[in-house]
Amino acid sequence: MAELIIDNVTKRFSDGTEAVRNVSLTIQDGQFFILVGPSGCGKSTLLNMIVGLEEITQGELRVDGQVINTLDPKDRNMAMVFQSYAIYPHMTVRENMAFPLKLAKRPQEEIAQKVNQAATILELTEFLDRKPASLSGGQRQRVAMGRAIVRQPQAFLLDEPLSNLDAKLRVQMRTELSRLQKRLRTTTIYVTHDQSEAMTLGDRVAIFHQGVVQQVGTPRDLYTAP
Ligand code: ADP
Ligand code: ADP
Repeated sequence: MAELIIDNVTKRFSDGTEAVRNVSLTIQDGQFFILVGPSGCGKSTLLNMIVGLEEITQGELRVDGQVINTLDPKDRNMAMVFQSYAIYPHMTVRENMAFPLKLAKRPQEEIAQKVNQAATILELTEFLDRKPASLSGGQRQRVAMGRAIVRQPQAFLLDEPLSNLDAKLRVQMRTELSRLQKRLRTTTIYVTHDQSEAMTLGDRVAIFHQGVVQQVGTPRDLYTAP
């Protein structure tokens, strides 16, 4: 649970590219926030700065008032889910979901309990001992979500998580994601180039263009003709 404040943040790469320019956004605790814009507009760069994969050039990032842009990625407890599933083919579903907790050296009983809990929420219980290769695309996507939620992160950062799925599955997963987020009430930033996702999923939407926020509002504000 966390409120995330992006305060006047800029990213300038060493070649001079300004991928993100003076962006200020407040993502309230529990909000499902959508960042929508075309390829190359700076969406991934912004997420990378929040998780700590890229340093910010200027500005400040705060979670519940605490400055996080000076922290190591491992001390930020942000969960990123990429479009490529980033789950391990040689591990079972259970092992995949347990992995972040193993890394964090959590006790065995806690790991078992959190994995079972996540599996219940994601309806993956019957697949816990299977390998990813024997699962459908949507099920694998849920395993990736499971890996993200076991750590009970302060925020989820989802970078086009549905873009590798076929159209039918994408619509189905969209509904599932929305339900999951409402259930967990975890602050979420969801990045997409797909306007229909922005319209149907989010509590709030920011329209991003060439590194700049052009408009912020509810899907209703932004996509309903006056
Ligand atoms: P999006 O996620 O919206 O597709 P990106 O954040 O990946 O956009 O990229 C934003 C801009 O920054 C693009 O012009 C891209 O070419 C540029 N960019 C991204 N990473 C780097 C980098 N490491 N060095 C220089 N330019 C970069
Ligand atoms: P996306 O699918 O989010 O648009 P890209 O395919 O543009 O991502 O970029 C993939 C990787 O390459 C990212 O890590 C990004 O930082 C890096 N990158 C993108 N554009 C550039 C660039 N102009 N110079 C250097 N690295 C870049």
